[in-house]
Amino acid sequence: MEKTDILIIGQGPAGLSAAIYTARAGMRTLIVGCAPKVAGDYEIDNYFGFTETITGKDLIERGRAQAAKFGVEMRCDRVLSIHQNGDQKFVAKTEEDEIEATALILATGVSRVRPGI
Ligand SMILES: Cc1cc2nc3c(=O)[nH]c(=O)nc-3n(C[C@H](O)[C@H](O)[C@H](O)COP(=O)(O)OP(=O)(O)OC[C@H]3O[C@@H](n4cnc5c(N)ncnc54)[C@H](O)[C@@H]3O)c2cc1C
Repeated sequence: MEKTDILIIGQGPAGLSAAIYTARAGMRTLIVGCAPKVAGDYEIDNYFGFTETITGKDLIERGRAQAAKFGVEMRCDRVLSIHQNGDQKFVAKTEEDEIEATALILATGVSRVRPGI
């Protein structure tokens, strides 16, 4: 079973931002999640600090590069279940693996719910 300090589920802007903080603070950080929906050719021009329009794909690639700079490990996999073991560690079962983490950050995004009217 793989072990890490921080397991982040979700590789979108929230997961990558969290990973940059934890890895920069010296914690072993693993992100599990695949390319988020925004990582396409969509033009984003309302993100703080960007005067130029950037595509979602470029934004996510820049976030991934910044996270990699601090040693974050990233992989595309899907978490199927999570439980806490006797040592109060989190154990995530994924399609490919089992990962034990001291702390867990959920950054799995949201689903839009269309009102039934
Ligand atoms: C088409 C489109 C255009 C957009 N345009 C803009 C824009 O111009 N400006 C703007 O501010 N916002 C825009 N948004 C909204 C923006 O994308 C979201 O606010 C942002 O992506 C939310 O980030 P997040 O990290 O919370 O979640 P997400 O980006 O949704 O990421 C969720 C992550 O969780 C992972 N995940 C979920 N379940 C599991 C699981 N069981 N196991 C492993 N991983 C899992 C997914 O693979 C993904 O990596 C747009 C969104 C879309 C879809």
